[in-house]
Amino acid sequence: MSCPEAGTGALGIFGGTFDPIHYGHLRLAETAREALGLEGVRLIPAGQPPHRATPGASGAHRLAMARLAAADNPSFEVDPAEVEAAQASFTILTLERLRGTLGTDRPMVLLLGVDAFLGLPTWRRWTELFDLAHVAVANRPDYTLDESRLSDELRRHVEQRRAAPEALNKAAAGKIASFSMTPLAISATDIRSRAANGQSLRYLLPPPVLDYISRHQLYS
Ligand code: ATP
Repeated sequence: MSCPEAGTGALGIFGGTFDPIHYGHLRLAETAREALGLEGVRLIPAGQPPHRATPGASGAHRLAMARLAAADNPSFEVDPAEVEAAQASFTILTLERLRGTLGTDRPMVLLLGVDAFLGLPTWRRWTELFDLAHVAVANRPDYTLDESRLSDELRRHVEQRRAAPEALNKAAAGKIASFSMTPLAISATDIRSRAANGQSLRYLLPPPVLDYISRHQLYS
């Protein structure tokens, strides 16, 4: 499949700072595609992330690296809209935009690592996310989806919306599922700090991204 947007099956939406994109992100997207039966996954690098400090690399560089990382997977596509937007990136606005282009019936699945899911109640208009998309949570080393760590309101949503992965294809939005991925304890923070210390980044991210980082002397 060369253009996931053209299909009718469930579309995974995977946003992140991707500063830089690494194998943890790519494995999450690929595992979600397989485990949840997604037709494709749209990677969306954040422009100006509202929840965190200014990224180490510009939006243009992070977008270029995401494109290089996704290039050899026909199920992945990269959406430049958040990087190109003048205002801060809010997921709710991105999902509203995508609903406008994909129509009301196509399942959309917002893909999150556990750490991002636990922080959901700090996101703008977060309870409205479920009107627009399902949410699927991947495990991540050092973070567990321990219900005691959920805020009361998020726990209520989990209890009401919890569904098996197969259920996500049967409705356009509103469920919460989880899936397991091979744990990869890779983080962009660690990659940036290795780069700053002149250490090797090999085998943490795809070779074309590695080349890009060294060519543009990012994070050093
Ligand atoms: P940083 O270290 O700069 O905070 P990060 O590596 O956590 O970055 P983000 O771009 O912040 O990457 O994360 C985007 C999404 O990918 C989040 O939902 C996060 O939970 C998930 N994610 C990142 N790395 C992994 C990993 N190794 N395993 C599973 N999920 C991951």
